[in-house]
Amino acid sequence: MGAKIIDGKAIAESLREEVKQQVSERVSQGLPVPGLATVIVGDNPASKVYVRMKHKACQEAGILSIGHELPADASQNEVEALVKKLNEDPKIHGILVQLPLPAGLDEESVLNTIKLQKDVDGFHPINIGRLAQKGREPLFIPATPSGVMYLLENSDAPLDGANAVVLGRSNIVGMPVSLLLVRANTTVTICHSHTKDIPAVTREADILVAAVGVAEYVRGDWIKPGATVIDVGVNRVEDASRKRGYKLVGDVAYDEAKEVAGAITPVPGGVGPMTIAMLLRNTLRAARLVDEKT
Ligand code: NAP
Repeated sequence: MGAKIIDGKAIAESLREEVKQQVSERVSQGLPVPGLATVIVGDNPASKVYVRMKHKACQEAGILSIGHELPADASQNEVEALVKKLNEDPKIHGILVQLPLPAGLDEESVLNTIKLQKDVDGFHPINIGRLAQKGREPLFIPATPSGVMYLLENSDAPLDGANAVVLGRSNIVGMPVSLLLVRANTTVTICHSHTKDIPAVTREADILVAAVGVAEYVRGDWIKPGATVIDVGVNRVEDASRKRGYKLVGDVAYDEAKEVAGAITPVPGGVGPMTIAMLLRNTLRAARLVDEKT
């Protein structure tokens, strides 16, 4: 029997609708419109596409969004001065500095400058540190990892006591996903480019999260029958039959994997749409944090 397809697009759409309704309710109660500021440094085309999508989603949800662009040669001081200005702007509840920053800028220092209560991307060192500690609660959890968890929690996969394997240990996906899976009481193995015999590890996984950035890396016979597979990867591969000359595929060989897995996310239409939905949720949460203080 083929795997159940976890429809991230539909799940994200209903989450976005929920946020939209909650925004509309708060505005009708006279509470401020949640506001998101984005900061792009340089001309990375992918960053511009992602940020444009985030603004469009904000607009659809009734969230104010204001974009800021700095040139690739902006100094550390200029970037941090902009973040500090946004920290003090009462219309702005969330600040998102689009990563990666151009080489030469100190990313950690920029992220550290964002006011904790406005860190809707969840990458402030204190938020990430709290995520790693028992009994501590981050104010915000990074959007893609929390999207992965939302999909898992809304699938039929039991998490408590399950064996989870995460492929990838990046700051933005692999590591925070692993920390969240530990919090959900799974037993986590993290694989990376130095791990020996990855297929032997993945074959033990009840939950498999792939975030390596290598097209169709995970083959069907690496998957334990019935496992839940969450594919975070987004990779372009040539496809002459398409007008744009390429198609997007995940880190998992989908056609093979869906014959073995119990449930699987497609690419596109799996984790990708969840990232934006979670950012909108985080921005609404940031506005609520201000309500609680006033
Ligand atoms: P990244 O920073 O390049 O990290 C890749 C990780 O995979 C690293 O930990 C690396 O190991 C490991 N890795 C790479 N090649 C490997 C191999 N052959 N065998 C084992 N491990 C390997 O990538 P990322 O930013 O985490 O992104 C991962 C994927 O997710 C990409 O396709 C990206 O486009 C996608 N993504 C999607 C979303 C979304 O919203 N859907 C958001 C973010 C990222 P080392 O640490 O040893 O180098």
